[in-house]
Amino acid sequence: MRITKLHATPVAVPFRVDEVWAFGRRRGLISVLLEVETDEGIVGIGEAAAYPSVDVVLAVLRGLEPLVIGEDPFAIERLVRRIDLVGTWHHVRASSPAIAAVEMACWDIVGKACGQPLVNLFGGRFRDDVECFYYVAAGTPDAVATEAASATKHGFTTCYLKVGSDDPRNDIARVEALRDGAGPDAKLRVDANEAWSPGEAVRIIRELQRFHLELVEQPVSGRALPEMAYVRERIDVPLLANEASWTRHDQLAVIRAGAADVLSADNQMDGGLLNLKRSAGIAEAAGLTVVKHSLGELGVALAAAVHVIAATPNFRYANQAYGSLLADDVTDGFGGGAELYVDGRVPVPDGPGLGIRLDPDRVNRYSELYRTDSGAFAFSDPAALSAAHALPKL
Ligand SMILES: [Mg+2]
Repeated sequence: MRITKLHATPVAVPFRVDEVWAFGRRRGLISVLLEVETDEGIVGIGEAAAYPSVDVVLAVLRGLEPLVIGEDPFAIERLVRRIDLVGTWHHVRASSPAIAAVEMACWDIVGKACGQPLVNLFGGRFRDDVECFYYVAAGTPDAVATEAASATKHGFTTCYLKVGSDDPRNDIARVEALRDGAGPDAKLRVDANEAWSPGEAVRIIRELQRFHLELVEQPVSGRALPEMAYVRERIDVPLLANEASWTRHDQLAVIRAGAADVLSADNQMDGGLLNLKRSAGIAEAAGLTVVKHSLGELGVALAAAVHVIAATPNFRYANQAYGSLLADDVTDGFGGGAELYVDGRVPVPDGPGLGIRLDPDRVNRYSELYRTDSGAFAFSDPAALSAAHALPKL
């Protein structure tokens, strides 16, 4: 079997409520859907997060074409190394989501050709469904409490909230509302996206500890591992590395520095599903658990990760997903919307490959929305950047 064509389609799908983080706001997410065609008629589906932008993803995909067309989609290790080394794309991060989409589509082709769901190609079902958190949008305290109550009502056990706002008193009020709304048994995870200096991080996290946090994610710069270790030694909440933990190489450095209790791993930021499995193996060897990170994804990328996570024991915490924020999706019954989740868990698709199909009507609708209104879906909000444009904020 040979790859004959790559076909990329950017789509913009709205959120129910705006996503707000330490440095911006967006009202939906943009992904690039990828269809990889073969000479035997099997078409594999992939998805790249629009990271750092759609233009970069599309440019990388164009650059990959001569390295990918004519190759065997079963020879995935060889194909990724051909891209990395022959194509000199091995400087991961900005080029990684596009490479990950090609790799994901190849796995879909392999699964479809074999008549097997991906989970069976990655070790088989260690679990039948994958737990995800409920992403509570950082609105007013009342809105946070309402969303948190909705999360608990829908059976989610873990709520995630962005902190790192310009005024830490807003963070404390929101986390208090999060606990009030979610109830005493919910697990609460907060993510500062590197907004704090080490001293401020220790001070704010100690204040937040009374709300019994499950994890605190990337409180300080991910580029300063000794500072993460400094904070970790002074707080009573496990520290989750995210911006410090994009690739396997980063994860190894975090482990060596004793800088985190839990590692995040992101197949989009480290070239694909095989590397997601490898990241979990690195963490397992260090006695650590791992959490799937998401740059923002639709049902295609979510399904791909769910297959690997279901086959990998040490994904022990609720994973990142955007289903609770998304108003819709591009797949046929998988992805966006809290109704996908049963008690906060995503079932592993049974069908061959990724086990999902694109819904042509939705793809058309959201590719049209990308063409007409993509600016509104990028991370940007001058008002959200009023106080601090630099790291750390405080
Ligand atoms: Mg994060």
